[in-house]
Amino acid sequence: MNLDQAYSPDAFRQQGHALIDLLADHLQRAQTGTQPTINYIEPDKALTYWQTDFEQPIQSDPLPLFTDMIERSIHVHNPRFMGHQIAPPLPLSALTGVLTGLLSQGMGVYEMGMTANALERIVTQWLAQKLNLGAEAGGLLTSGGTLANLTALLTARAIVGGTPDSDHNVWEDGTTNRLAIMVSGEAHYCVDRAARIMGLGSAGIIKIPVNERYQMRTELMDDYLEQAKADGLTVFAVVGSACSTSTGSYDDLTAIADFCTRHNLWFHADGAHGGVAALSDTYRHLVQGIDRADSVVIDFHKMMMIPALTTAVLYRRDADAYRTFQQRAQYLWTDADAKDWFNSGKRTFECTKLMMSAKIYAILHTYGERIFTEYIDTVYGLARRFAGQIRNRPTLELAIEPESNIVCFRHVGDGSDTPAYLNERNAQIRQKLLQDGRFYIVQTTLNGQLWLRVSLMNSFTTDAQLSELLDDITACI
Ligand SMILES: *Cc1c(COP(=O)(O)O)cnc(C)c1O
Repeated sequence: MNLDQAYSPDAFRQQGHALIDLLADHLQRAQTGTQPTINYIEPDKALTYWQTDFEQPIQSDPLPLFTDMIERSIHVHNPRFMGHQIAPPLPLSALTGVLTGLLSQGMGVYEMGMTANALERIVTQWLAQKLNLGAEAGGLLTSGGTLANLTALLTARAIVGGTPDSDHNVWEDGTTNRLAIMVSGEAHYCVDRAARIMGLGSAGIIKIPVNERYQMRTELMDDYLEQAKADGLTVFAVVGSACSTSTGSYDDLTAIADFCTRHNLWFHADGAHGGVAALSDTYRHLVQGIDRADSVVIDFHKMMMIPALTTAVLYRRDADAYRTFQQRAQYLWTDADAKDWFNSGKRTFECTKLMMSAKIYAILHTYGERIFTEYIDTVYGLARRFAGQIRNRPTLELAIEPESNIVCFRHVGDGSDTPAYLNERNAQIRQKLLQDGRFYIVQTTLNGQLWLRVSLMNSFTTDAQLSELLDDITACI
C-alpha cells in the first residue's frame, strides 16, 4: 500500500459504502435489544486480544477490523444500555462526523474553519437564547464538560478573581490572592479538578453540604462565605449543579443567583447533563434561575444525542469569553485584543479543534429543535415511571424521586440486613448484571451507601424492559 492508494477516492467510496452498511446493520440489531449490551471482557484479556491482533500481518481490507471493534464495544443504542450518561448518537450526527473527519477544519483561526466558525456562532447563540441568557449572550464549543467547566472558571477568575480596587490581572501577574470557589458536595469531580488545576488547592474548594434530596443547602452559603473570609480566602465564583451527576438533582439556581448578585460573585451553572431541561415546557421549571448565570456548560453528547465530545460554554455577556485567555500569537492573529468571534481559538483552550458545530447544526437544519424537546420529555418521563415501578416493589428502595432521567435505587430485601451487607449485595448485583451483559447499569455511593444507578439515555427503552431489569435484580439474590 502506498500513499496514492491510501488516498484513493475509489477505495474511500467502496470502503465507505461497506462501513455504512456494517453500521446500519449494527444499529438495527442494537435497537432491537435482542443481543447483549456489553460483552464484558477483563482489561488484561482485552489488551492481550488486541496485542495479538496488532502482531498480525497487515490486512488490506479494514472491514473485519471494524466489525471486531463493534463487537468488542459497549452498545449505546441498545435500549438496555442505561449506565453512564452518554447519549445514543443520532445516526445523522455520526454521518456528519464522517464529513467533518474528512474536511478536518482546524477551526482556531477563521480561514481554517470558515463554515465551522460561523456554525459555532449560530448554534451557541441559539442555545444561549433557549436558556434566556439575553441579547448579549454567546459562547463557544469545546472538548467535553470537564474542559468546559475549567474554561468557565478561568473566565470567572480573570474577571472576578483580581484584588478589588486594583488593576491586578491574573493572566499577567499570576495569582496572589488565596482564591476559592463554592460548590455543592455533590458537584461533578471535574469542578474539584478544575479548581486544583487553577492552583486553588483543597482550601480553595468550599463544599457546601447537601439536603436529603442531594441539593446544595443554599441557606448555608452566607455562613460559609463568612468563614472563608475569616480564613483569608477570596471567593470569586459559585457553581450550581443542573443537575448533579450521581442523583440528577437540580440545585436551587435562583437562590444561588441571588447570593451571587448580593456578593458580586460569578455564578456558574454546570448544566452538562441537565441544562437542556430549558428546552422543555414540561421540565423548564427545574432550571429556573439559569438565565441569571454568568456562564453555563451544556454537553451535547449527554442529553442532545450528538457523539462525544461536544460541549458548549455559554456566557451571559459573550464579550467575557475574550478575557479567559489573553494570548498573543502573532502567527495566528494580527490583533490579539479584537473581539473577533470568527477566530474561535482566541476563546477556547484548544488551538486546533474538531468541527463539532456541524453535527449540531445538521440536526437543527434537518429535524428542527423539537427533536431535542421530544428526547428530553421521553427520557425524563420514563425515569418518573421507573421510579413508580421501584416504589411498587417491597424489596427495593428508591434513593429519591428522580428530577431528571437518573434514578438511584437498591435492593434492601426485608430490611433486616446491616448497611455493610447491603452495600456488598448491591455491588454483587451490579457485577452480575455486568457479567450477564444484557443490561448495563452502574453504581454510586451516597452517604457511604452503595446504590444502583440508572441513566435512561435511550428514548426507545420501554417500561417493560425496565420491569425486566427489576426482575433480573430481584432474581440475582
Ligand atoms: C458529565 C458531567 C461533567 C463532565 O463532562 P464530560 O463531558 O464527561 O467531561 C461535568 N458536570 C456534570 C454535572 C456532568 O454530569
